[in-house]
Order: sequence, then structure tokens, then C-alpha cells
Amino acid sequence: MKLIVLDPGHGGQDPGAVYQSLLEKNLNLEMATRVREQLERNYETRIAMTREGDTTVSLEARTNLANSLKADYYFSIHFNAGGGTGFESYRYNGTVSNQTIVYQETIHGEIVRVIAGKYNKRDRGIKTANFHVLRETNMPAMLIEILFIDNEGDRALIVNETFKRDVAAAIVEGIAKALSLPRKTTSIMFKVIAGSFKDRKNAEARIQFLQENNIGAFIVQATLNGAPYFRVQAGAFRERENAEQMVQALNQLGVEAFLIAEAQGSIPPTSPPSNPPPTVEPPPPPPPPTQPPGFSIKGLSVLKGEEMDLFVHKVNPTAPELGELYERIGRGYGIRGDVAFAQAIHETNYFRFTGIVKPEQNNYAGIGATGGSVTGASFATPEEGVLAHIQHLYAYASTEPLPSTYPKVDPRFDLVTRGIAPGWTDLNGRWAVPGTQYGQLILKIYERNLEEAITVKQVELEQMRDVLVEVRKNN
Ligand SMILES: [Zn+2]
Repeated sequence: MKLIVLDPGHGGQDPGAVYQSLLEKNLNLEMATRVREQLERNYETRIAMTREGDTTVSLEARTNLANSLKADYYFSIHFNAGGGTGFESYRYNGTVSNQTIVYQETIHGEIVRVIAGKYNKRDRGIKTANFHVLRETNMPAMLIEILFIDNEGDRALIVNETFKRDVAAAIVEGIAKALSLPRKTTSIMFKVIAGSFKDRKNAEARIQFLQENNIGAFIVQATLNGAPYFRVQAGAFRERENAEQMVQALNQLGVEAFLIAEAQGSIPPTSPPSNPPPTVEPPPPPPPPTQPPGFSIKGLSVLKGEEMDLFVHKVNPTAPELGELYERIGRGYGIRGDVAFAQAIHETNYFRFTGIVKPEQNNYAGIGATGGSVTGASFATPEEGVLAHIQHLYAYASTEPLPSTYPKVDPRFDLVTRGIAPGWTDLNGRWAVPGTQYGQLILKIYERNLEEAITVKQVELEQMRDVLVEVRKNN
């Protein structure tokens, strides 16, 4: 396993660059701590820090530590000052290995993608210098200067939570890519946090605001340094891409949101016990273990189209009549069309389309619509809309190739990990926002539709019996 030494510049009696109350040493440590946490969480690697608190550590002590540990990489984190703006990185200006250069270029590239690409700050370039920590380390080494704390525009970002998260994530991506760190095999959930509050009332107000914008959310209580605080969680996703779409949607609403990646189940600690992790909030309780195989997505509809339509029309008399399409197309794919219909009811609020998807999109399952202003796919006709819905379920529930009965109209078919969700509750956190009860809610609606259809059938049976009795009496 590769060992990386993270070096938060300065510390203790050496504050580094100073601007009013902003001290470089604190920024360096905070960033290094974030990087360490994410690397340890997501990758098979060991991390050592040259300092873990606000302590004075000489440059010699730093490089001696890395050399004695025979580290694979030395990564030093600094913020800049002196009247410039932007990001730059350094390697030693003497003879260095090819690896040193390639690593620097890779990591620099990842960081610039965020700092220049997303935040429009200057890329000051890949540089060399005769710094002690670069010269005296026996392994490839790199030093970064993130932004200038004495520049007003840079400073606005330096103190911004989303920016800090983004830069930490970019450093992690860069280091992992450069050193080819293997990903941890434990499954990771990407949770979207749309605010963290000391006061529960504020968290509730945030949830109210999100609901008004059709984003489901709930409160997760956590503890930070012994004090309770309240996180607003707006979704949990297995695919990072989906979680990031959600963050974007929230940002567009003016809500500062960020991702936390959480391992499901336990990961063995990777740092030696003499090297305790920094004080961070304890993770919320892990989600319940995966349930035994639940009610399957594959199967045959037991409800007739008209029974589905009847059920919906009691709630929304103007709902389109889609029951027959769900029954017929579902049968064509071996997918339970009647449960898919219940899913459509859940997604469209009984086809009243009170969410961001509009009726004219014929998108009954929110395909590609993740919330906020991401409105998702549109389909030319109701039949095409139902077809896309069934095909999307087929992608989740089956590993077989798509039957050629109909053209492929689901634009996101190939984005699904085939066969990953054989049961309706397996869609939780995959199809759904926030997703923890998604499959259960669909099945509740389906149960009610079944109950109602059974009641109607019982009334019909009684009528038939009555008629039978009468006919016999009169003959
Ligand atoms: Zn510095």
C-alpha cells in the first residue's frame, strides 16, 4: 500500500502568510485534513501528516519524517500572498525523476480544472523552485500554493465552503490518479447535504424551502465537538454523477450544497493507532443492511389497464388513460406494468404533474429529472413515454439485451448498471430522491390499487351470485 505524506505548511509559531484574522497555517491544515479524510475514505492508501495540530515543526523534521517512512509521495499544501492571484504548483528546480514531473502535471491538471475551470481563477503554471521540502525529500514531491489570501477576489473563495470542498476533492482525484491508488471496494453512498445548522428551526426552514422547490429532504442529527447540529440531507445516491447533478440543482436555487461520500458498512482503519484521525464529526448511523430480495420488478401485471385507470381517476378525474399502455408494454418486456403504473402515480402525483416535469413531456417516471430545475427527458407521445419508463425498469431489473419489439427510446438506458435492481426497493437511492423509502412508497400505492380492484371484483361477484340465485328461483 502506498504511503503519502501530507504536509500542511507552517504552523505553531510560524503563521505563514497573514491577512487580518486569516492565517495561512490554519488554511493549510484544514485543507490537508480534508484531503487526508477523503483519501483514506475512498482509496487504499496510508497517510502520514507532518503536523496534525497547530504545532511548530521545522522543515528538517518534515522531510526527515517522510524519508524515514520511505513515503511514496510528499505533498505540501500552502496558500499564497504577496500581491498576485491564482494557483501555482512547484517541484524541485534541480534534477528530478520523471515521476516527479508526471505526478505534478497530473495533480496540477486536476486542481486547475476546478480553480480555473469552475472558479475562473488564473492558472499561474507548473513551476520549479529550490524549496527545502522539495529538495530534501528522497521521493517525488510537490508543493501547491492554492490562492492569494491578500487578494480580495481570491479570499472570497478561500473562505467558501463549496470551494474548499471542490479543491480538496480535486487534490484527492489528482493524487489518486497520479499514484494509481486503488479505490476501496466498500460501496460508497454519496449524500447531498443542503445545509448544516446549529438551530433545528433553521434546518426545518431549509426543508420547507426545498419542498416548495420539489426537492425532498430530511434532517440528520450529528454531533460536532460535543454539540448537536442538524444537517439537511437532500438525497443519497450510489452514482456520484447523480449526486453532483443534485448539488448543481441546489446551487441554482441559491442553496449551498455539498457531497459527503459515506462507506456502507465498516472499513478497517488504515492509519496506525499511534496516528489518531483528526477531530471530525462522527458519521450518522449506517443505513439499514440490504433487505432480502423484495417484490420483483420482473413479472406480469395482474391488474387490467382499466383497473389502473379507475384507481387514478378517483383521485384525478382528468388523468390520461395510460393503464392499457402499461399493461401491454410491460407484458412485452416481462416487467410488472401495474407496479410501473404505481411508480408513475408516485412520480407525477396522480398525473397532476405538480413537480418540475410538465405533462407535455410525457415523462411519467422522472427520467433524467433530478430536482431543482433539471426537468429531464421529453417523449413525443404517451406511448413513447410509457415505453421509455418500462425500458428504464428493464435496464435496472434485467441483464438481458433489450428485446427488439420496440425501438430504444429511453435516453438513459445505457447509463444504468444492468441488473443492479431486481426488486422495487432496490431502486431506493438509485432512481429516487431522496430515495430511502422510494420502492416502499410505490408498493404502498400498488397495494391500494390492488385492494380497490379486489373490492370492485367482490361487488361484481356478489352481483353475479345474486343474479344466479334469482335465475334458479324462477325456473
Ligand atoms: Zn506558505
